[in-house]
Amino acid sequence: MSLELINVGYIIAAVLFIFGLKLLGSPATAVRGNTLSAAGMLIAIVVTLFSKDILPVQWILAAVIVGGIIGALTAQRVAMTSMPEMVALFNGSGGIASLLVGWAALYSMEVSMFTAFTIVLSILIGGVTFSGSLIAWGKLSEVMNSRAIVFGAQRIVNALILLGLIVCGVLFCMNPSADSPYLYAIIVLSLVFGVMAVIPIGGADMPVVISLLNSYSGLAACAAGFAINNNILIVAGSLVGAAGIILTNIMCKAMNRSLANVLFSGFGAVKTATKVEGEVKPIVAEDAFLILEAASSVTFVPGYGMAVAQAQHVVRELGDLLEANGAEVTYAIHPVAGRMPGHMNVLLAEANVPYDQLVEMDDINPRMSNVDVAVVIGANDVVNPAARNDENSPIYGMPIINVDEARTVFVLKRSMSSGFSGVDNPLFFGENTRMLFGDAKESIASVVAEFKG
Ligand code: NDP
Repeated sequence: MSLELINVGYIIAAVLFIFGLKLLGSPATAVRGNTLSAAGMLIAIVVTLFSKDILPVQWILAAVIVGGIIGALTAQRVAMTSMPEMVALFNGSGGIASLLVGWAALYSMEVSMFTAFTIVLSILIGGVTFSGSLIAWGKLSEVMNSRAIVFGAQRIVNALILLGLIVCGVLFCMNPSADSPYLYAIIVLSLVFGVMAVIPIGGADMPVVISLLNSYSGLAACAAGFAINNNILIVAGSLVGAAGIILTNIMCKAMNRSLANVLFSGFGAVKTATKVEGEVKPIVAEDAFLILEAASSVTFVPGYGMAVAQAQHVVRELGDLLEANGAEVTYAIHPVAGRMPGHMNVLLAEANVPYDQLVEMDDINPRMSNVDVAVVIGANDVVNPAARNDENSPIYGMPIINVDEARTVFVLKRSMSSGFSGVDNPLFFGENTRMLFGDAKESIASVVAEFKG
């Protein structure tokens, strides 16, 4: 394949990535954006595979088919609640791929000092992304404790690892070779650094780490692109890196924290929330129905529990019934609700909830005191008033959806247990709060059944 043809293919792929990303910005066009980007990736892969005589065509096709089948099967089978873990593993796969590409570059070409530098970067960022993503996966899937792990000399140990990486990186660049001991030291130290970087982050700070690792996986690919002189890898890597950084910034803002504070302070390591006590007022579906039937404005606030219960379809059904009954219906979305960025948007889009009924936190909060009923569906941390009122709370300062300011609040969950951050929630004891205990899908279905008479 001629160089011109390769570059034309790469330019088409890059244009598809950019337009795909643009379309991903709105729920209405996101599916089209995803398809465009996937088409761009297919073009990039096909052009790359045919441009270099690395492997015979039949091997390449076999790998594409096997990889495609594994990807399609996994994507179809993974439960909606496990998507965040899958995203963590995707990030990790991107990281290890960049590490291996950087490493392999040493075997296939003459290495200049600049190339050696990009190889170090792809191994370093790729290694950190790989091991960090595995720890994030462990925390999200609760294979390991999701709390922050902090110990006395943590910063000193991290500083020593970083120093070791810089020294080994410089020594390697001065004399780059595949059997350099410094290369192996860089690989090991990067993997250790990834673990050390993610273990002190836990609880409600995890959204930041997920988006940051996503960004790192892009930066690692970009460095690998420089290492093997591949334009599309550089472009795609930069796009992922930049998009991830923007998302990280959005997540930090959603929690009112600086990135440095999230990365280095250790969530909840020093603070313990004030113990919450009071009277809980349970309600049954029949009574919830009577209050909802009389309401003229209802706001649903979904959280992780809606994903667990898979309640989105029945929630939409209830929303439609309430609208038909004359109520104004909105769905308030907190940026970190659920377990991955955009989690609630994805679920509600799946249930075909009209986009104009989705309202962001900053838009709903000023109107909350005019809402007759706020229905909290499996959300906990994102509606916890301790974030606003209790200076001792580990989540103090995180903006929340102020459901406690609505005239009446229904909280749908199975028990009194806490959310992902492990922090108690005074909302459950509020004067205007009624707890509708049970699986969210079953509870909403019971209310829907009452509506249908
Ligand atoms: P939370 O994790 O705070 O709470 C979820 C609640 O859902 C639980 O209290 C649980 O209570 C309830 N629940 C679970 N299953 C069901 C069910 N079948 N029916 C009804 N309720 C159920 O969720 P939020 O969405 O409020 O907050 C998200 C948290 O996750 C934040 O702390 C955020 O920082 C963190 N996080 C977010 C990420 C993101 O990118 N969005 C990534 C990683 C972490 P019970 O057991 O009593 O039913």
